[in-house]
Amino acid sequence: MHRIESAIEKAVKFRSHGIFISETFELARRQARDAIEKGLNPFPVAVKDCFLTSTSTTCASQMLENYTPPMNATVVDRIVAKGGCIIGKTNLDEFCMGTSSALGHFGPVKSALSEATSDDWLIPGGSSGGSAVAVQTGIADLAVGSDTGGSTRNPAAFNGVFGFKPTYGVLSRSGLIPLVNSLDSPSIFATSAESCWKYLEMLSGIDAADSTSVNLPEIEGIKSIEGLKVGIPAEYNNECLSDDAWKLWNHAANILERQKAQIIPISLPTTKYSLACYSVLSAADIASNMARYDSVAYGHRSKMENSTYEMYASSRSESLNTVVRKRIFAGNYMLMKQYRELYLEKALKVRRKISNEIRDAFKKVDIIITPTATGTAPKYSELRDTLFTKEDDDDYFTQAANLAGIPAISVPIGKGCNGLPIGVQLMANKLQDKTLCNIAQLLY
Ligand code: GLN
Repeated sequence: MHRIESAIEKAVKFRSHGIFISETFELARRQARDAIEKGLNPFPVAVKDCFLTSTSTTCASQMLENYTPPMNATVVDRIVAKGGCIIGKTNLDEFCMGTSSALGHFGPVKSALSEATSDDWLIPGGSSGGSAVAVQTGIADLAVGSDTGGSTRNPAAFNGVFGFKPTYGVLSRSGLIPLVNSLDSPSIFATSAESCWKYLEMLSGIDAADSTSVNLPEIEGIKSIEGLKVGIPAEYNNECLSDDAWKLWNHAANILERQKAQIIPISLPTTKYSLACYSVLSAADIASNMARYDSVAYGHRSKMENSTYEMYASSRSESLNTVVRKRIFAGNYMLMKQYRELYLEKALKVRRKISNEIRDAFKKVDIIITPTATGTAPKYSELRDTLFTKEDDDDYFTQAANLAGIPAISVPIGKGCNGLPIGVQLMANKLQDKTLCNIAQLLY
């Protein structure tokens, strides 16, 4: 009970960092009492507000500002069954679209490494910025995020915590509001790779409500790095990478080499198209996924109701931000019959090529190590001045793992010369989640 009370105290202390969209302190207290009754050890959890909980779920959008879901996401029910106590629902980029957690309807998330009063704060990364900061500040032991193109690993790197995206399907997507169905993965923030693995075991397992869910295989895991083959892909050393991130990437490889791993240069040439590929595939899914928000069954309803069409259009344009609307627009364009072949089908071929290259790389190496982001967390003004295009440079490092469905983890490996955290990313072959977490722990 003490841990839950101290988490609540911290959540209040950091309130002005915008970590939570809704606080559920009373619920957490009740869950703690139930857990103790069942003989479990209660622990504080923060859940990204794109997972359904029957309290409220907004996806940081005005569209869902007053939405009360009829159910909980599977991962939420599973956490609570193990003693997890939900302290609150965390802030994010609207509908998980973004890498800054700066433009959501309820205001920005500010990294706890900057002052909450600052109007030029350090970006916490995104889209799961609130979840990352909930672990960074010690509010939550486990924060649940989602990761479609890097949304957990990127904020983990910027805030100096572990961010783990498991193999696609290992965590159920039931109750996760979809962004890109074939790339979405519930993900884990924690302060060690060991804890990431512990929580994954708690939450994983086939779910009848998600036909793509898979069981984790029983594997041994590893206790030593000796003899491990570590691949370093040339294409991740691109022009956007900062000196600091490059140095720490090397530093991480050196640590593994000192523990007698074998470092093997590899090439993943199609990775350079992953941003373009992701932007087409994601826009296409977004266009269809967002069609459900017609404000009839639920969602923001405009007062402009002269015709059904007007009501749809004005409800959507009043309540969805420009990032979301642009992507819907682009997706509908690319899905038009005459453009399908030009965009969508090409992107699907590129995705297949990226996956195949990664699959072939794992015939030669056990893990792949790359930077997680271009450098340290930028300031809000830096992103604003580039109209948020700088975010794409960071996405480059993380998206391939989603396209290939493989597990990837960001390890807080050190600090840049400005004193801010930097992460490296480890990727392993499908269903090698345990090996991946073991190596991440040994690296740290
Ligand atoms: N930054 C990427 C996007 O905006 C990835 C987001 C995510 O993983 N949810 O689409």
